Amino acid sequence: MMEIFKFYPQKINAAHRQLPIKTIKLKFIVSVFLSVGIAFNLTAQVQEKKPKAVFVILDGVPADVIEKLALPTFGEIAKTGGFARAYVGGVKGTYNETPTISAPGYISLLSGTWAHKHNVWDNDISQPNYHYWNIFRIAETVNPKIQTAIFSTWLDNRTKLIGEGLEQAGSVTLDYKFDGLEHDTIRYPHNKDASHILKIDEAVCDEAARFILNNAPDLSWIYLEYTDDMGHRFGDSRQFYDAVKNADAQLKKIWESIKVREEKFNEDWLLIITTDHGRDAVEGKNHGGQSERERTTWITTNSKKLNDRFKQNPAIVDILPSICNHLQLPIPDTISRELDGVPFIGTADFSNLSATLKEHVITVKWKSFSELNTDKAEIFFADKNNFKSGGSDSYKKAGEVSIHEEEFTFSVPTNSGYFKVLLKGPHHYSNVWISASP
Ligand SMILES: [Zn+2]
Repeated sequence: MMEIFKFYPQKINAAHRQLPIKTIKLKFIVSVFLSVGIAFNLTAQVQEKKPKAVFVILDGVPADVIEKLALPTFGEIAKTGGFARAYVGGVKGTYNETPTISAPGYISLLSGTWAHKHNVWDNDISQPNYHYWNIFRIAETVNPKIQTAIFSTWLDNRTKLIGEGLEQAGSVTLDYKFDGLEHDTIRYPHNKDASHILKIDEAVCDEAARFILNNAPDLSWIYLEYTDDMGHRFGDSRQFYDAVKNADAQLKKIWESIKVREEKFNEDWLLIITTDHGRDAVEGKNHGGQSERERTTWITTNSKKLNDRFKQNPAIVDILPSICNHLQLPIPDTISRELDGVPFIGTADFSNLSATLKEHVITVKWKSFSELNTDKAEIFFADKNNFKSGGSDSYKKAGEVSIHEEEFTFSVPTNSGYFKVLLKGPHHYSNVWISASP
């Protein structure tokens, strides 16, 4: 819209020299009407496009590996949208630090929260806390007509992390699923070299590409495992790099399907590719700790609506609110308050919320995304965490402040040793716990 307005005044200036004033005025009015008309038209066209989203987890690939290899599909997607280094593992050394292990990483993405909330600490997934809704539960609840799909080399992703069909996980049913092939030892006999996993990843990508092309589900998750297997086996090696290059070729099929859909249909596709953790810096065979290389991940996306959060080290927990913004899915308020992520698509108000308690005084700090942001944020606090066991929290309002001030201090009547502090902006919430022991 900006470009149209920039263009017309130049034309009018040139016309000034030859035309009488009245004609100029008339031309100007017509031009403005035309440009406004075009602008409205463009806006209408954009709004009519049906939003769709696909997110991919490529297991255990450090950011430096993605950056150093020539990956044509990744390159093309990043050129369309962007590539950013990102992080997993929560805030190191704090109450929300999360192991750089696969399942805790997947559910950090799915629920938009760190392990102190989703309660998945390793790949056993013994007691996930389903009160922190995953993105499929949000989507299916907010819009039961939405079409959801999963294509995955690990069955537990659906049955345990999403908890499909489990009452305590909201009895969610995905509309289409293609997974569990790792349990089909007839078609995919297990080999020590994990070549069956490579074949399963291939089948998963083929099916995802086919299904997206023909059926265009609104929200899909693709999970590929082979890269992590090669990382564990060979560490930083030709074999590991080949696995990543192979994944790039497999993902090309999905990217092509998306491009065809966008060309032929009035659809606006979001593709986000990320990983669940990096690898150790010594050999690259291990992960699970909090070293820089294990925590440093990446996000590649075709989105053209990226905000500044994307450039400032986004986190895996940012993906959920970003996808919901793209899909225009309003997240239920009680779930939204608990999210640990900040959207990198759409508008971000603030990030990096922190709070300290000294006697009866709480000091809250955050980072505003714009110095010019005079929008107000409201600050709330609660001294119990009922949400985590399915109850509701009673928040008290502490005050209101301009976002650009980046700080607010208030006193609490009693110091119970635990507080949840909530910052409510015009576009999203941020929350922080003051003590880890509720
Ligand atoms: Zn992993």
